[in-house]
Amino acid sequence: MRPGARGRETSNLHLEAFFSPDYLASRNRFRDAARAAGASLDALAIEARGPRGEPLTIDIARLGERAARRVLLHTSGLHGVEAFAGAATQLAALEAAPAPPAGCALVLVHALNPYGMAWLRRVNENNVDLNRNFLRHGERWEGAPAFYARLDRLLNPASAPGPDGFRVRLALLALRYGIRAPRQAIAEGQYAFPRGLFYGGKALEAGPRLYLDWLRREIAQAEHLVALDMHTGLGRRGEETLIPEPGVNATPMARLARALGSRLVDPGAGQAAYRIRGGMGAALSQALPGVRVDFVLQEIGTRPAFAVLHALREENRCHHFAVVDVAHPAKRALLEALCPAATEWRRRAVERGLSLLRAAAGWMFCEQK
Ligand SMILES: [Zn+2]
Repeated sequence: MRPGARGRETSNLHLEAFFSPDYLASRNRFRDAARAAGASLDALAIEARGPRGEPLTIDIARLGERAARRVLLHTSGLHGVEAFAGAATQLAALEAAPAPPAGCALVLVHALNPYGMAWLRRVNENNVDLNRNFLRHGERWEGAPAFYARLDRLLNPASAPGPDGFRVRLALLALRYGIRAPRQAIAEGQYAFPRGLFYGGKALEAGPRLYLDWLRREIAQAEHLVALDMHTGLGRRGEETLIPEPGVNATPMARLARALGSRLVDPGAGQAAYRIRGGMGAALSQALPGVRVDFVLQEIGTRPAFAVLHALREENRCHHFAVVDVAHPAKRALLEALCPAATEWRRRAVERGLSLLRAAAGWMFCEQK
């Protein structure tokens, strides 16, 4: 990837080859490609281990100056199992030998939630949804939407995976209450059911803490940070949605989205599927006072929302109440729900990931001199 070289080098053919089968393979490829591209590397280790006893790390590659004034940051895997498309995008970017100009740096962060990527979970080693874990100062680590508490037994049954009419019960729920209210209550983030879905934790988790410390140490000198955070699972299959932080200046992102022909939603105006608590975007600005931060979350759609929710629920039952094994059908089903094996989906995901990265690089590194 070269800044400003939008859409030139990489054809869509074979982009699926950048996908890795598991965390360890992905991490090794990322580190090898980063070294080959001349990047500096850091690894932030968490205590938990992977399925083969392997250490788990958040790996960070930096191209360009350490004291860069303009930094483009690309993160993958805040939601663990969603990491595969983001990691494939990073690998594709590294293979095309990016070279940020003077005063600029490109920082790629592989697997912000390495436990979730390794164990095929959306959450981390403490069942915490890390994109609900960045509460602001003064926010309380407790409570849940009232509607969530009523849905707890439906969402989080204390039993191994198995058919129990979930989709029918969900359909009945939608008939009674519509889609919007249950979806908001389920996905907003909750701090009361530690084994439940969308649990935000009791404190900032180790991985996010290490990551924010790294940013404070390494990025605080920057004037401008553009942060792209790649996810999968929200939206129509293969469709891209860009979601900036509410309250964060969305104008440059709106320009980027227009340039890319992407769908941009403003969560502050209620255009996103739901609002969340404890998202990472706002935490970047808080961690880096004095740095202008433009954040956008990139989603690539996979399957309908009820199908993704069903897969999350079954994996959660598997993890807490059955044998914890990455070969378990419930874990494989979650992987398929958030990272489809189909070649066309994989090519599309990396193509969209690269397009956004290139457009942001063009804007950051070339236009703003
Ligand atoms: Zn996600």
